[in-house]
Amino acid sequence: MIVSKQMHDMSLLNDASALLRSSTSKELYKELQALIERHDTIRVKTGINLVAAEGPMSLQARQLLSCDLGSRASGGSIGRNNRFFTGLDQADEIEALCIVLLKELFECSHADPRLLGGLHANTVIYAALKKHFKVSDMSTLSTFYGGNSSNHSLGPPGILNYSISNLPVDPNTLEIDLNAFEYMAKFRQPKLVSLGAGLNLFPFPVKEIKDIISRWGGLLLFDGSHQAGLIAGGVYPNPLSLGADIYTASTGKTFSGPQGGVICWNSEKFSSPVSTTIFPILTGSHQLNRIAALTVSCLELKEYGLEYMVQGITNAKQLASNLQTHGLNVLCSEKGFTETHQVIVKWTHEEGARLACHRLADVGIFANAVPLPED
Ligand SMILES: *Cc1c(COP(=O)(O)O)cnc(C)c1O
Repeated sequence: MIVSKQMHDMSLLNDASALLRSSTSKELYKELQALIERHDTIRVKTGINLVAAEGPMSLQARQLLSCDLGSRASGGSIGRNNRFFTGLDQADEIEALCIVLLKELFECSHADPRLLGGLHANTVIYAALKKHFKVSDMSTLSTFYGGNSSNHSLGPPGILNYSISNLPVDPNTLEIDLNAFEYMAKFRQPKLVSLGAGLNLFPFPVKEIKDIISRWGGLLLFDGSHQAGLIAGGVYPNPLSLGADIYTASTGKTFSGPQGGVICWNSEKFSSPVSTTIFPILTGSHQLNRIAALTVSCLELKEYGLEYMVQGITNAKQLASNLQTHGLNVLCSEKGFTETHQVIVKWTHEEGARLACHRLADVGIFANAVPLPED
């Protein structure tokens, strides 16, 4: 959900205070264990997960999240001369392996996995482009067309004072209206176009947009947080080979790895700006245990990515078609519903989609609500 004011529910914090006052540390530890077990029962053992922003992580990758690397101070880049601390030779080898695997999977010259998530990756890019390339004017998808807040005034480009305009979208097809974009460009030529959405049924026109903005030297950021696994598996067009300058991704979505972020690029001109913005500007120690786990997820995608992602898309199409047969209004039926892992059901009942999702969650089916154009 995107709201301008995000606050914790105070009643839950008050309950926690009461629990803390009435329990010993031993009891609290037991309570913590019980909550984790209950979560596992509901989400893993019995639940049906339809949250498109989550991919299942393998046990091999998951186990490495508890390895010793997770407690080591890691600040800096790979190599004895580039880290702040010593004792990281094995960590260096692991992180190097992770990077070469990412470069192979995403078919790019540079990849950096030191980011905490897609939003952190985007933050680094907005900061680096502003500082080193004097970019502060961008176009992106409105949040009502799936645009993510990490590319909006409520997110990193907002706090960096970017001037942000919306890309024109055809409300019927949900596709970017290239003619309207060309027309708008007569009056406003954004130095940056950010293509990224939480709602991705079909590939974006990366090449077409890059062709247009190239006329004034515009840069293209492809925020493919959702599509990372699909791209690594080779079932979704690689944005960098279509002309995107920079690609940011989440590793916990279709990539099916630990929560984290990656930045990929080809041109050497971004290397120093991006690396120095990551460290020391916007990251201290990054999580080496996460890097180890991510390396396993990369290996899994290298071996099984194609098969796994093809199956995911097949499942999504089948689910969409079954839901429609059962009377739900599934978007884009005329185009085969989806070419990704996502399925969108238009829910027009008065209760709204969020309440409907909570009703589903109460019976063990987990989905999430997204705003649509008419909302
Ligand atoms: C999920 C998402 C993000 C944020 O990624 P995190 O890994 O959750 O930080 C950013 N952009 C888009 C388009 C997303 O879908």
